[in-house]
Amino acid sequence: KSAADRYLKREILGEGTYGVVYKAIDTKTRRIVAIKKIRLGKYKEGVNFTALREIKLLKELQDPNIIELIDTFTDKGSLNLVFEFMESDLEAVIRDRNIVLSPSDTKSYLQMTLKGLAYCHKKWVLHRDMKPNNLLIAADGQLKLADFGLARIFGSPDRRFTHQVFARWYRAPELLFGAKQYGSGVDVWATGCIFAELLLRRPFLQGSSDIDQLGKIFAAFGTPTPSQWLDMVFLPEYVEYQIVPAPPLRSLFPMASDDALDLLSKMFTYDPKARISAQQALEHRYFSTVPAPTKPALLPRPP
Ligand code: ADP
Repeated sequence: KSAADRYLKREILGEGTYGVVYKAIDTKTRRIVAIKKIRLGKYKEGVNFTALREIKLLKELQDPNIIELIDTFTDKGSLNLVFEFMESDLEAVIRDRNIVLSPSDTKSYLQMTLKGLAYCHKKWVLHRDMKPNNLLIAADGQLKLADFGLARIFGSPDRRFTHQVFARWYRAPELLFGAKQYGSGVDVWATGCIFAELLLRRPFLQGSSDIDQLGKIFAAFGTPTPSQWLDMVFLPEYVEYQIVPAPPLRSLFPMASDDALDLLSKMFTYDPKARISAQQALEHRYFSTVPAPTKPALLPRPP
């Protein structure tokens, strides 16, 4: 009896970056699960080996705000990742025009995102592909980060697929300037973009190319000066941009509280070394002042 026999496959949930995702029943626990089937043929042998070793590490990540990797198995040339089944995702929440997000709701979604992120950063694991459709929502309202570490293991998502270009909108300026050595700051920047998207109910910085993405960033926050970001000029793809001044952040987020804006600006710090960490963000006064974050079970969700 092979490992694959433990799961009864149901319908396809969707086609993702790395392969097809199925809904299935785990006959051992009777739980509903989602199985991500990754075709290994596309990758070199060495990558397979590294992938399996790194996948083991992902299994050790256990936190209420990280999607649980229940099991892994190989089956006919594909690697199968078994995750807990999730009802919805944050993109669906943000897009649903019938959903009203109160300041408490936004605070709750951001707090859960940062909790999951801080946990992984503490374990030296980066996400690298934070975006609203990777933030899954469980039946009990808990938000959980999905696809942790997969970007590193399996390489950057293939740009041919249209749904992946959205990842650009969440990309930190150091990545857009071609930084090869980057850190947890890339996830914090992306989370800043998600925070902004919760406030605006639309993606904040919608660049149409990598160059345009930087232009959008600079238009929002002003072109970084050398004193703001010393290492910038040494980045591999650094190009000089026309100097534009920053408009007041308040003008971009007229409805946000002062605390929300202060936290947002710290997540959007240019110099990744000076950018707030996920843990520091959780300790920001935005989370300790009123209104309190909504309890997960009470959060608005799509039908
Ligand atoms: P992408 O690579 O575009 O982020 P994924 O591979 O993560 O997409 O997922 C593809 C589809 O499967 C999506 O529609 C997503 O909603 C669904 N899906 C992924 N993981 C789960 C899960 N744990 N529970 C339920 N649905 C999931």
